[in-house]
Amino acid sequence: MRTARRTIDKREEREYNELQEISGEEFMPKYSLVVPAYNEEKSLPLFYEAVVPMMESLQEEFEIIFVNDGSRDATKEILKELAAKDSRVKVCSFSRNFGQQAALLCGFAEAKGDAVIAMDADLQDPPEVALQMIEKWKEGYDVVHGKRRKRKGETVFKKATAAFFYRFMRKITSLDMPADVGDFKLYDRKVVDAVLSLGEHDRLLRAQVTWVGFTQTIVEFDRPERVAGETHYTLKKMVKLAESGVFPNSDYPLTLPLKLGILGGFLSVACFIVFIVLACCKIYFGGLVAWLFPFVALSGSIALVCHGLSNIYISMVYREVQSRPKYIVAEKINL
Ligand code: UDP
Ligand code: MG
Repeated sequence: MRTARRTIDKREEREYNELQEISGEEFMPKYSLVVPAYNEEKSLPLFYEAVVPMMESLQEEFEIIFVNDGSRDATKEILKELAAKDSRVKVCSFSRNFGQQAALLCGFAEAKGDAVIAMDADLQDPPEVALQMIEKWKEGYDVVHGKRRKRKGETVFKKATAAFFYRFMRKITSLDMPADVGDFKLYDRKVVDAVLSLGEHDRLLRAQVTWVGFTQTIVEFDRPERVAGETHYTLKKMVKLAESGVFPNSDYPLTLPLKLGILGGFLSVACFIVFIVLACCKIYFGGLVAWLFPFVALSGSIALVCHGLSNIYISMVYREVQSRPKYIVAEKINL
């Protein structure tokens, strides 16, 4: 059973948790912060110092779940120290680097809060914006996206590719994914459960959360620079992330050969008709190569159409294997 209780002081809270442990009742916080961390030894102490007082100001139970994504620096040791001094800090360490999306997913699976907030460890997701998200959640929204108005300390290349990616995703998927939002979001418990019910291996959570639906809103903020260290997103990682967003959510690449084949077929037939008209009007007779061109183009187009048709089956097989729920119920009345 979920219990809501106002924190009076730390000692009382500890006693309360111990009592719950003894009685077998599980500690159920109201908020879970999920923080993926990869080589964040410099950022983590600053993150903890900034976030904990802010969460305490709410006077409601919370937990911080750090997911150490196979770090090679002192991240693991720092997290152990934080967890030893504060039982609200929980840590899950991966056996190797699996990536930020896997780390977020692990945090979601462990989170017990009614609302789950995904945040980066480098304080680029300002803690005060998390408070605004909580306000929105209390107003009744199930998902609150953090939308980046400005991005400080990022290269022009990164800003440009990010801006292009969001617009491209909106174009080629049927998802109404808000532009310029990352993984900094608040998710209601039912949204977390819905996202976890998707069994896919390659995931872009910001695309999946749009797919599952529910009431969504945005909070805008100016993204500051990293508090310490450097970005871990190399071009290779960014491409991999983009793939995880595009391919599971769009069959556009698979239907492209069919569309090109049909277009090519029409153009080849049109070309052949133009040649006949020109020949009949004694304007242009052309050589053997010119007459062969529409036939070669037509056979290429037919091959593309056949390829596109088999892609339709591949896309249907993929959807079956992906086995997303056929619908997600937000509410039931008198059932
Ligand atoms: N991160 C992770 N695994 C990775 C790369 C990044 O857990 O393989 C974490 C990282 O520690 C940070 C968050 O994901 O908390 C965002 O990473 P980063 O700041 O490097 O990305 P950027 O903000 O530059 O897009
Ligand atoms: Mg960052």
